[in-house]
Amino acid sequence: KLFNELQDLKGNIRVFCRIRPFIPGQSGNKTIVDSIGDNGQLVISNPSKPGKEGNKTFKFNKVFGPTANQADVFSDIQPFIQSVVDGFNVCIFAYGQTGSGKTYTMTGPNNATEEEWGVNYRALNNLFKISQNRRTTIVYEVGVQMIEIYNDQVRDLLAAKAVPDASMHPVLSTSDVIDLIDVGFKNRTVSATAMNERSSRSHSIVTVHVRGKDLKSGNCLYGNLHLVDLAGSERVDRSEVTGDRLKEAQHINKSLSALGDVIFSLAQKGAHVPYRNSKLTQVLQSSLGGQAKTLMFVQLNPDAVSYTESLSTLKFAERVS
Ligand code: ADP
Ligand code: MG
Repeated sequence: KLFNELQDLKGNIRVFCRIRPFIPGQSGNKTIVDSIGDNGQLVISNPSKPGKEGNKTFKFNKVFGPTANQADVFSDIQPFIQSVVDGFNVCIFAYGQTGSGKTYTMTGPNNATEEEWGVNYRALNNLFKISQNRRTTIVYEVGVQMIEIYNDQVRDLLAAKAVPDASMHPVLSTSDVIDLIDVGFKNRTVSATAMNERSSRSHSIVTVHVRGKDLKSGNCLYGNLHLVDLAGSERVDRSEVTGDRLKEAQHINKSLSALGDVIFSLAQKGAHVPYRNSKLTQVLQSSLGGQAKTLMFVQLNPDAVSYTESLSTLKFAERVS
């Protein structure tokens, strides 16, 4: 059913929101965001304006509340993976401030159990399962690339040495994928002084290329899947940062607004789509627009202290949905 709905999407863009669990004492004392019912609505309350007056509601294609687990989330993503195997290009990305659960959704927590696997592993696992089921009629080949974009520069996370194009790694099973993504994450930290710091200020992109060859006709179909863990969207206080930090912040702002502009113009079915404005949108171009399907995860930390950031995340999402 979801798959049929996907066919006539406005600009083929869907927006899912995920509210991470509130962890008392960790970064706040109060939760101010919650889902309403099961129809994609959520409410955010201004902590300094108690009562109904401070409430704002937003509506998306789907809202996952704090109790939704990784399997719940994936069950709504599976149709997109089916599309990739059927020869479509798909882009799934996670947007939100640092600490809002982007990496948890896309990859899972550190040393995740199978139950805690994020979208990356579940997507590949599902893709292998579908291709296995079809093996008597179609033979699939799957390759993976992993890059990061930092200060508008692309870095291959899987190559032993610098190569002009991101290196492609054939994979046969989910465990191959887990090993590769592990290597990628380790490489992400090599040049970083503080891992969390750096990883929240670069975009990381896992690209999966699928080729299916029909055994009878010899015809091939191609699909690709971009899985994107975006840099933290938090606004950096310009009066407090200088030098490298300021430069990073400017690159992040610029690339996230370029992404917003591209998706906005696709949703409006705009004639001109401004892909060229950042490395991020250039890299993702093949899976944004045209026949491609795009899914944006809007990640929220429900803590009262995150109110301002959460509101700006929701406004970004509202503009593109
Ligand atoms: P981000 O990548 O946006 O900076 P993380 O994914 O690292 O955020 O999440 C921040 C912390 O919250 C991590 O410790 C992560 O394991 C935890 N977390 C995020 N989302 C969930 C969730 N849905 N369920 C349980 N823990 C979560
Ligand atoms: Mg992260």
